[in-house]
Amino acid sequence: MTYVITAGCIDVMDRSCLEQCPVDCIKPGTRMLYIDPDVCIDCGACEPVCPQEAIAMDAMLPEELRGYADMNAAFFAAGAKADPPRGRRATAPRVSQRRPAPSAVSLRRLARVAAPLR
Ligand code: SF4
Repeated sequence: MTYVITAGCIDVMDRSCLEQCPVDCIKPGTRMLYIDPDVCIDCGACEPVCPQEAIAMDAMLPEELRGYADMNAAFFAAGAKADPPRGRRATAPRVSQRRPAPSAVSLRRLARVAAPLR
């Protein structure tokens, strides 16, 4: 298991979570922060400090936000430089508001954008 940053972080990037992480596995992209699933130790310290309620354990993600687990992992697989797919709203709701997860098309687009960075 790992913790995952989801839609609520997009274009907000509060960064409170960065100061809490004991293993420094949260990294900023251009529009949101990401958690490296290979380094996260599941301590949960980041979750309660996020004012957007954008962080959750992957196993607890609602169906419509599960795509963010792949998106967080893809960011690190691409060298921690890729942006999330473009075209999202400037403000995004919290995990508890159950925004739809990115579609398979969005994730493929992210992978294409990330590919040249590898
Ligand atoms: Fe870092 Fe703990 Fe959050 Fe994982 S759960 S990202 S280790 S603060």
